[in-house]
Parts: sequence; C-alpha cells; structure tokens
Amino acid sequence: MLPISKNLAATLKEKPKDESKLGFGAIFTDHMFMCDYETEKGWHNARIAPYAPLQLDPACAVLHYSQSVFEGLKCYRREDGGLQLFRVKDNFKRMNHSALRLGMPELDIESFTQGLIELLRVEQDWVPHQPGTSLYIRPTLIATDSKLSVHASHSYLFYIILSPVGAYYKGGLAPNDIYIEDEYVRAVRGGIGETKAGANYAASLLAGIVAGDKGYAQVLWLDGVERRYIEEVGAMNILFVYEGKKVVTPKLSGSILPGITRDSVLKLAKHFGYEVAEERMDVNQVLDDIKSGKITESFGSGTAAVISPVKSFAFKGKDYQVGDGGIGPISQKLYDTLTGIQYGRLEDPMGWIVKV
Ligand SMILES: *Cc1c(COP(=O)(O)O)cnc(C)c1O
Repeated sequence: MLPISKNLAATLKEKPKDESKLGFGAIFTDHMFMCDYETEKGWHNARIAPYAPLQLDPACAVLHYSQSVFEGLKCYRREDGGLQLFRVKDNFKRMNHSALRLGMPELDIESFTQGLIELLRVEQDWVPHQPGTSLYIRPTLIATDSKLSVHASHSYLFYIILSPVGAYYKGGLAPNDIYIEDEYVRAVRGGIGETKAGANYAASLLAGIVAGDKGYAQVLWLDGVERRYIEEVGAMNILFVYEGKKVVTPKLSGSILPGITRDSVLKLAKHFGYEVAEERMDVNQVLDDIKSGKITESFGSGTAAVISPVKSFAFKGKDYQVGDGGIGPISQKLYDTLTGIQYGRLEDPMGWIVKV
C-alpha cells in the first residue's frame, strides 16, 4: 500500500449551520485526497491536502478528449454518531472497470480505499446529522497529459472530494412524471454506457433539457439501436413491479450502468421472497402492462435518491399512469430497508456496511 502524506489546512471553513438547507454537491469540505500516476512511476504521491482548485494546462487531455471517470457514494451517520459506508468496494471495482474501458490505468484500490477512510476521519465533523442527510463522496480520475494529439494519456490524477448533502426527499418519497425519449439515445452497446464516464452525462444533457421544458422530471432511455428496449431513467436504473410480487429490471446490455443500488434492490427483493428477473424489456409491452394494470409499481434506483417512484410515463403524446400514481408498497419497503441499513437503523444481513 502507498504511504499517504497529510498536509492539513491552516484555517477551516465554516460548516453549514442549517442542515435542512443543504442541497446537492454545492459545498465541499476542507480537504481532498489526491494521487498521481505516470506510466514509468505508476501511482505515487498519495496525499491528503487542503481542498483547492486544480491547476491544469489548457491543452490538458481531459479537457479535450474527455478521458475521465468518476464514482458516487455516501458516508452515513448512524444514530449513535458513528460513520459508515455502503458497498464501498463495489464502487472502487466499478471505477476500475470504467478506467480500463477508457484506456486509463488500473486503480490502486487498496491505497485509495485507505485514503478515503483517512480523509473521512479528518473530515468527520462534516458528516451531517439530520435524518436523510449524508456526506457525498466523489472519487474522480482524469487524464493530465498536456498534448493535443489523440492518445491515451500517460499521466493521470485521481482525487476524492466530499460534499455534505441534504435529504433527497424532505417529506417522504415523491413520485415523478417521466418522458420516454425516442429520438436521442444515451449509449450504445460496445460504447461506454456501462461505465461511469463523464462523457455519458454530456451525451444525456440535451434530452434532459427538452424533457424538463415539457414538464417532465427525467428521461427514460431506450436502447440505441432499435429504440425499443428500456435501458435507464435519467442517471438511475429502472425497475418494475408486476402484480405486487415480481420485481423486473432490464438485463444489463452493455449500455446500461450496473448500479449498486439496482443490485442491492434485486438482492433485497429476493431476500424478501419476491420473484426477481432481469430481462430485455420492450417499451410497447411495458406500456401495455401498465395500461392493463399488470405493472403495479415502477421506480428508479441510484445512490442519490435510493428509490425514486414513477408516477407516469409519457410516450409519443400519450400518458400512462403507473398504478394509482402514488408510492407502491414494495417501493416503500425497499426504500425503508435500504436506507435503514445505510444509516445503521436496521441490521445488515448482506455484509454491505463498512464502518469508518
Ligand atoms: C451512477 C449511475 C446509476 C446508479 O448507480 P448507483 O451505483 O446505484 O448509484 C445509474 N445509471 C447511471 C447512468 C449512473 O451514472
């Protein structure tokens, strides 16, 4: 494991006083973890340093060719004051997979996990206390060669920044209206859709703007070839409940991001005795099943919101309300269980929690 040096800030920022006003990802803690990479030297100079702007050459590779990947996870405060992480190893494994797909070096997962834990210990007072709040963790890897020829960079910067974030739902789960996008696509099989690359987000923004202008909260993405098979919703995975007893989600196709929340939901649903399936899902069939009432619930899953119930889908000018448009019992149960485990209110039968 790499040695980790520490250079602590001389003055500390004032922490937010009113935790009910915390938004998402707008304020950052006093320190960050950083580590450099060069082809000849490998990973070196692992360090905790004061949070500060990066100095990048205007020709820096990441700014031109988007060689960048990231992760998103949270540190939760238990009622007894202790801190814990949820499935952190899976985030680093996924980031490693993303990095390799973008021609970037393999991460030093052991050193970076240790770096994260040490950073969290330095910043422990930044983890908010109010129910539903947390400290959002953003590991990032960028290419830093200063050269405009198109090539996989020889130098990289890995860093982790931390941001105290508010409760996603202030008054309980809130169902959303979703626009099924049949013009733009987010990703294609064989591309980088299954990685957490910044470039995927750039590809998704315009559709989000158009749907937002029409009054929808998110876009439901269809596959990039036939525009027929359901993939994801916004930057979340999508799940459906059939007849109150079967949880179904699109099979990982190569262009779907393998969400850790998705995987956790599937494992918990199985644990609760529901039938669970990963299948190719034809949008026309799904809309028929919503209309006939066979589909009783639908929800997005992701780290930020955990569970995000769908009230209705709009497709080619028609609206399809899911169930009674409210929060389904299975959505609620999965949300309560997952957040219960994350905040240490419930036992963790799966071995997902890592204490800080
Ligand atoms: C991060 C992400 C998700 C959700 O993944 P989690 O590990 O559950 O947070 C889903 N889809 C996309 C496109 C994402 O970037």
